[in-house]
Amino acid sequence: VEATGRAKFDANGDAYQFSGIIQDVTEEYQLQVRKDEFISVASHELKTPITSLSASIQILQKLVKTNPGSDKVPVFVNKASNNLSKLIHLLDDLLNVTKIQQGQLALNINRFDLVDLIKDSCEHINPLNEYEFVFIGDTQLMIYADYRRIDQVMVNLIGNAIKYSPQSKRIEITVFHDDETATVSVRDFGIGINPQKLPHLFDRYYRVDAFGHQFSGLGLGLYISAEIIARHNGKIGVDSTVGNGSNFWFNLPIDDKLNL
Ligand code: ADP
Repeated sequence: VEATGRAKFDANGDAYQFSGIIQDVTEEYQLQVRKDEFISVASHELKTPITSLSASIQILQKLVKTNPGSDKVPVFVNKASNNLSKLIHLLDDLLNVTKIQQGQLALNINRFDLVDLIKDSCEHINPLNEYEFVFIGDTQLMIYADYRRIDQVMVNLIGNAIKYSPQSKRIEITVFHDDETATVSVRDFGIGINPQKLPHLFDRYYRVDAFGHQFSGLGLGLYISAEIIARHNGKIGVDSTVGNGSNFWFNLPIDDKLNL
């Protein structure tokens, strides 16, 4: 809360009237704190893959000179490539936020099978079958939406489900529909979320564990996902229990009368 006030004084210098404005700036203040914090988090998040990428390239440069046939070469090429992907992903998120703020997140609507998209996203994220994805519900569901953007939402939700479930490898993905709406939910059995934090999760820069640094991230994935779903005239939400896991869901209108 911010208060500004003024006092009127009589001839003896005693105050005889006060006037003032009390303004609730809590939200504004919190956004500013998160923004300041975000710059330090973002610098750290960008620096980690850059440092690792730079180390891999130095090792590769040495190996190319001294032992180009070494079986370490593909290992470091892979490491470098993974860190480069992380960087591209981080920069994409930052660019997406700018686009959203400028109202320039354009959609490219096509007709496609939502279940296909989800299975593709899962395969992409889980090439070594480290995680157990369980698919429930529809086996095919044609919708009109922006394929690339919905893929981005799925990658964010599945990526979080993996990241925030260090002890569990199981993720359940449910797809169902009624006449008008397709609903997708991504359920994990991870750390869960404190109920007090739930209302802020989809805010820009919001991270539950910002100071703890236990999990990496910029706090932008859910904000961007919520914007993408809102642009499709859909809804996004979450149910969660600390210690039992979270269930993130979104829905989209199925038909082509999106009026976008
Ligand atoms: P981040 O880059 O921090 O993961 P997100 O916008 O994707 O940012 O998520 C915001 C916050 O919501 C995260 O910092 C995390 O605390 C919480 N969160 C998101 N998904 C999950 C999940 N599946 N389980 C527990 N917490 C989650």
